Amino acid sequence: MKKKKEIGRGRAVKNNIFALGLLWRICPSMVVHEAVVRFLGYFEWLFYSAFFMRYVIDALEKGSSFGTIMVFVVIVAVVSAAMSLYNSILNGHIFPVARAVINKGLYKILFRKSRNVELECFENSEFYDKYTLAMEKADERLIATAEAVFKTFFGAIASVCAFVFMYQVDPISVLFILFPVIGNFIFNRKLSHLDYARNRDMAPHNRRIAYINRVMYLPEYAKEMRLTDVFKLMRRQYREAIKGLADVTKKYTAKAVVLHWLYVMFTFTFIFEGLLIYGAYRTLVSSSMSLAQLAVITSMMVSTTWILIGFTDALTALFKNGLFIEYLRTFLEYKEKIPEDSEGADPGNKIESIEFKDVSFSYKDKEVLSHLNMEFREGKTYALVGHNGAGKTTLIKLLLRFYDPTEGQILLNGRDIREYDLRKYRNLFATAFQDHRMFSMSVTDNVVMGEDIPEESREEEVTRALKLAGAYDKVMSLPKAADTTLTHEFDDKGAVLSGGEFQKIVVARAFVKDCPFKVFDEPSSALDPIAEATLFDNIYERCRDNTLVFISHRLSSVQNADWVYLLSEGTVKEAGTHRMLMDRNGIYADMYTKQAKNYLAVSEEVSA
Ligand code: ADP
Repeated sequence: MKKKKEIGRGRAVKNNIFALGLLWRICPSMVVHEAVVRFLGYFEWLFYSAFFMRYVIDALEKGSSFGTIMVFVVIVAVVSAAMSLYNSILNGHIFPVARAVINKGLYKILFRKSRNVELECFENSEFYDKYTLAMEKADERLIATAEAVFKTFFGAIASVCAFVFMYQVDPISVLFILFPVIGNFIFNRKLSHLDYARNRDMAPHNRRIAYINRVMYLPEYAKEMRLTDVFKLMRRQYREAIKGLADVTKKYTAKAVVLHWLYVMFTFTFIFEGLLIYGAYRTLVSSSMSLAQLAVITSMMVSTTWILIGFTDALTALFKNGLFIEYLRTFLEYKEKIPEDSEGADPGNKIESIEFKDVSFSYKDKEVLSHLNMEFREGKTYALVGHNGAGKTTLIKLLLRFYDPTEGQILLNGRDIREYDLRKYRNLFATAFQDHRMFSMSVTDNVVMGEDIPEESREEEVTRALKLAGAYDKVMSLPKAADTTLTHEFDDKGAVLSGGEFQKIVVARAFVKDCPFKVFDEPSSALDPIAEATLFDNIYERCRDNTLVFISHRLSSVQNADWVYLLSEGTVKEAGTHRMLMDRNGIYADMYTKQAKNYLAVSEEVSA
């Protein structure tokens, strides 16, 4: 049975054209220089082996004067020196500068796309594999593609010219050219397909290795690494991934060895040995070739071989790049389900109501929210409570349009949120998530997070937010106060904050942003009870004019909310004020009583 190819030749060629177009968009001068330099490369081969050699020998045979020959040689030398100078400028200056331009331009496009695809893509391992392959050395691949395209194009023209010249000198010699054609075109291309298949099989193992490397050097994991035996599991995963790589290599070894051997034999051994024997026979045995002809044909044969090798190599590279560009293209042409830059209606700056109407949602096949109904009204405070896994965070993710409901609708001021301009819609919210990340930037930047706050009021705003979040004193004690860099990644003197301290910084983010809706996902989980009580006082106080939604497991912080939604198994099981829910004596009342009892028991133990 014929093995199915990963992509067809037509698609590979189109991918190369796509890459060339992309390169042209980013750095047109690189495309022009690539074309010129590849043309000159082949031209030089042909010129020296065919025209130059022939001219000199003809001139010698015709008895031209030494002066005439010298004029020709000097002109050639000057042109050659100019071409070398161009090459040197190209490699020493133009290409390095162009590479930087390409790197900047390409990664700008890739980063924008990466930010634009929906969160779900990062959880889809097939997409993620393609994404990492697309990002890996994409700039080098793009340049390699341009090189291969022009080498193929000019190589094809040069090969035809070489065939014609060879045929003119000796028609039989053309037959020897078939060896490098077979070697390169058949065996090298097979090797390139093998390479692609091997890389593809290795990708999941390499991704696992990269993950383990990351876990080993990222500070967020360092604690667990020391306190638990998770390192053992990591090491096992690492060993398995390495074994996976070894298995993949083993799977392809025999084929790779045979193909490589055939490639070398056909491409080099057969032609060079064959030609030497043929030339020697014609000159020494049958005396049908003069030494001058032997010199020309030998030089022609060597250069023609290299032209063909260059051409077939370029053609192979063209198909190989076509396969790799496929990842880049799939990624860039991926149609986002929730494009971050999608335009739509302007939501304004006022949230009168947000309504979840019969909303259901599944992660892949697992239903997490089921026919959920709830409403958030302007200026009110809402608490979301429920056991772990009830769907509270998922609900917030839907509210922020990281995902869209599988069924039902979310309405902002009576209109489906999918109809709004996504950036403007998201701008209505300030959020503090529990799985927040610390960035290796100053405290101020970690609070402001790129928000447009005028320079003159920036410090004042940040100070106010830090005070409300209870982080001000700590920040002032740092070596450069709010200008201190967080983490040690780029600054030895950078600050490392405790979980609770950093949680306060994250809360300050939500305070500093001027918007009508604030969301706090367990903002106090890492705080002590006193800091927690103060924080909630501040949240209630600061957000009096905002709509406020918070998730909390500590029900003592929920009592002052205007409305409480209790979620269980992805739907609202109870809703009302704290008092109403206590009177109802249902799940909420049960949870509250148990927590209060535990709290009292602990307090009694402490005071005893
Ligand atoms: P809560 O915030 O109430 O603890 P979540 O909304 O985080 O609950 O999670 C609800 C359920 O959805 C859990 O069973 C969780 O395992 C699952 N879940 C959360 N995120 C994902 C995800 N990205 N992919 C698949 N399942 C998820």
